[in-house]
Formats: sequence, C-alpha cells, structure tokens
Amino acid sequence: MKYFSLNKKSPDVNFREATIKGQAPDRGLYFPEYIPSVNKEMIIDIESISNEELCYQVIRPYVGDSIPDVVLKDIVAQTINFPVPLVSVDENIYALEMFHGNTLAFKDIGARFMSRCLGYFVKGNNKKITVLVATSGDTGGAVADGFLGVEGVQVVILYPSGKVSLVQEKQLTTLGNNVFAIEVNGTFDDCQKMVKNAFADHELVKSIFLTSANSINVARWLPQQFFYYLAYKQWNHKNEAPVISIPSGNFGNICAGLLAMKSGLPIKHFIAACNANDIVPQFMNSHLYQPKQSVATISNAMDVGDPSNFVRILALFNNNAIELADYFSAVSISDEETKQAIIDVENTTGYLMDPHGAVGYIALKKYLENNNNTYGIFAETAHPIKFYDVVEPVINKKIALPPSIASIMGKEKIAIKMEPDYFLLKEYLLSVG
Ligand SMILES: *Cc1c(COP(=O)(O)O)cnc(C)c1O
Repeated sequence: MKYFSLNKKSPDVNFREATIKGQAPDRGLYFPEYIPSVNKEMIIDIESISNEELCYQVIRPYVGDSIPDVVLKDIVAQTINFPVPLVSVDENIYALEMFHGNTLAFKDIGARFMSRCLGYFVKGNNKKITVLVATSGDTGGAVADGFLGVEGVQVVILYPSGKVSLVQEKQLTTLGNNVFAIEVNGTFDDCQKMVKNAFADHELVKSIFLTSANSINVARWLPQQFFYYLAYKQWNHKNEAPVISIPSGNFGNICAGLLAMKSGLPIKHFIAACNANDIVPQFMNSHLYQPKQSVATISNAMDVGDPSNFVRILALFNNNAIELADYFSAVSISDEETKQAIIDVENTTGYLMDPHGAVGYIALKKYLENNNNTYGIFAETAHPIKFYDVVEPVINKKIALPPSIASIMGKEKIAIKMEPDYFLLKEYLLSVG
C-alpha cells in the first residue's frame, strides 16, 4: 500500500515512512492510494471471529510489507487489550463505549497502535526517537500511556499549566520512565507554537530524531476503524445496518468509520455530532469550508475551529459534497442541550454520559425522530469521570472513581516547569535527545 499527499506535491510513501513522517513535506495529509474491500464472508461470519483476528484482517492491507505478519498480529493484540461494549441505552439507541482503555478515552486505540508501530520501526537504530506533542488534555494522556515503556522512543509532552483537569494532569505527569511532561506557564496555543517551532527548526531536526504523534498520523487514524467492526460484531439487528453518530472535533474518528463503510462494512449513515464549533455543519449547508477561531464549550476535546481530517472525508467521496451528503450529515448541539440530555438520560435510563457522548446522543436522537424504524449507535468517547467538573454539578452527585484513576490520583506529579519560550524547549530537547 502506498500513501499519497492530499496536496499532491510530495512523493508517495509506504506505511512506515508515512508513520515516521506524520505529515507529507508539502504539509498535506497522507491518504491511501486505494480503499481495500473487506472480505464479505468475514462480515457474514463476524460473530465467530476473535476481535484480534478481525482487527488484524482490517489493518493488514494498510500496513503492507512495512511490518511482518507475526509482529503486526502482536501489535494489534496489544492495541485492543480492552473491551468495546455496545450497550443498550434506549429502545432504539445503543452506546458504543470506546473508553475502556487505560486513559479512559477512545484515543487509546490510535496511540497504542502508533506507538508500537514506531517502536518496531526504530528497532536497531542507535538514535532514540523523540515524540513531541502539545496537549490540551486528552491526547497527551493517551499518547503518554501508549508510548510508556516502548524501547527506543521517548515522549515529551507540553501542557498548559492549570488548564487541564486534575485527572488529566495526573495521567500526564505520573508515568515517569520514557515519558517527560513539561508544564508550560501559558496557554495551549503557546504549547502548540513551541512544538511547531521545534519541527520548523532545521538545526534541531538535524541533531535529534523528532516526530509528532498528532491525530493526522496514519498510524493513529487507521486503527480507529476497529471500533466500527467491533460495533457491528455486536449488532443485534443484522437485517438493518446501523446509523452511527460520532462526537467530532478533528474528525479523525468519524473519518475512520467512513473508511470502514467504504470498505464494505454495513453502516447506513454517519452523523458528525459537533458542539458550537460548527464548521462542518455549516459546510454541509453551504458547501463553503470556512475555518474559524475555536470557541470554548463543555465538550472541550471537540473545540476545534479547523478540523484537520475533514479533507480526508472529502477525498473519500471524490471531493463531492453532494455524494457525501448521502452517507453523512453534521449537526451542531449547544451546551444547554448537552447538559439537559445528561440529566434526562440519567433520570430515565440510569445511563450516565460524558459531555462528548451526550452531544453524540442528541444528534442521533434528532436524526431518528425524522427517520422512522431505524436503530442507531452513538459513540461514548470518554468516561464521564474525565469530565467530572462538568458532569457532577449537572447531575448533582459524585461519580465513583474507576480503579485505574483512583490509583494514579495518589501518585506524585513530576513535571518540568517552563516559560512559553521556544529556546528553553530547544535547549531541553537537545539535552535529552
Ligand atoms: C478527541 C476527542 C473527540 C474528538 O475526536 P476527533 O477524532 O478529533 O473528531 C471526541 N471526544 C473525546 C472525549 C475526545 O477526546
């Protein structure tokens, strides 16, 4: 399998190079040269196949000869080391719980897969590879945990001091080993700027082996397809394909779902559930893509004003917005509606949603009201405890700490404090690289 840049001004690369580079030299996103069709028999017999074998078969064509079969099987098994249950919430609504990984958000799948691929690619190198990321919360935790203990790789994570939740900070700063946290006395944008400066610094990238782990990396994007196959494996209404609603920010997760659908997985329709950051819902109305400054909401992992993976979604549909609209719709949900849904669903069913999942739930509910006799799935992308500061006041009770979180809350935070100055970061990277 070859990958080309969506900007079409860079040479094609294989999976290995696309993973190491992250982004093409022309700043385009890498995209597979063709979409493999999934084996039809496998879909018919899906309930009898193990999760490991199913996911391995899905990813195999994308990896090509970059990783041998035995190694790839092992990487896939380590990636999906947690359950992805499909839970009945309402009469015709199910939640796909993507959050049972170590950091309690769906990003664990992409981070675990990418870290292990990269670990394999740098084997035997005498130079360590440094993964540099800026985080506003969820990404950093998943990346830190995914790369923990992977040989030949070290992770440097920048986060804005006082602007991530306590749970998120603990997840970033208590791992130790090959994971280094930098607490920046500034905003997320300052962190992002420092990271961008590092990648643009020719002198630095000549002396240390630097890569990113952001959500555009093919090794983070592609394994997210697993969620959709695992959902279909548990789907009870096989005579009718599901409608799936995905809380979306950078649109990586939903783009992976659309890719699975294009490969032949039976899915009727996708709904991109957005918060007030409504660039894609606006695009679906006007066919004009107009990035904006992001606005802060209670589903803050989706506060994105220029969703990076949307170009991949357009590419999947030949850049034809009308063709796309047959399989994809997008809707913007307010914070008020989100809070009300968390309360209502908890009251009537006992099911507690996090703010992101709640956005997905409302978007699905609205769609089903206009489309009778349809069943739907919404993604629960994070455990509600990760957003306890939003959820607890809304439902007016405490959420019990899951054991994995309870154990890190007592651990000591280790972070390097830094002013938002690129030269301090450079000095640090040269000292550890
Ligand atoms: C990252 C994140 C999202 C958005 O996912 P994208 O792939 O960027 O669209 C949604 N919910 C949670 C909890 C997240 O952490």
